[in-house]
Amino acid sequence: MIFELVDIEGAPRGFDFELEPQALDLEDSDVSLKSSVRATGEVVKTAAEIVVKGSITGDVEIECSRCLKPVDQKLDIEFQANFVTPEHFAVDKENEVSASDLDTDVLEGDRIDLKDVVREQILLNISEQVFCKPECKGLCPKCGADRNLIDCKCDLNETDPRWAALKNLR
Ligand SMILES: [Zn+2]
Ligand SMILES: [Zn+2]
Repeated sequence: MIFELVDIEGAPRGFDFELEPQALDLEDSDVSLKSSVRATGEVVKTAAEIVVKGSITGDVEIECSRCLKPVDQKLDIEFQANFVTPEHFAVDKENEVSASDLDTDVLEGDRIDLKDVVREQILLNISEQVFCKPECKGLCPKCGADRNLIDCKCDLNETDPRWAALKNLR
């Protein structure tokens, strides 16, 4: 769903759409969508910028940061994304206001692809550390076994031989 700037001239314009999991490319993340994602909200154009605000809901799976097991999570994101035209961005730059400070994106061309907005918001709002359970033991750094399931008996306190050599020098 693409909004062209001419479309959003004047009054606020609402949106309400669903995206199938395969429609959103989250390839470089540990997140995968379990259901379609619903996005509702509105696009508002002011003199200097275009503001997209709304909410995103859906079900996702995120890899446990320790054992990589998929963990179910609910998406419930309230967001606001601001866009400026390159001309306005240039003016901001002269005033030494950077786009990152303002949490503002520069518009490429004359349209906003709401799918990109949704994708970006999901990636921004996913927590970096997700655990399948608080006491997850994670994977053994030596043999890769899931230590929640098996006790691989690896000795993780074994001293690195390089450090042992240093110790002997003292
Ligand atoms: Zn885990
Ligand atoms: Zn092990």
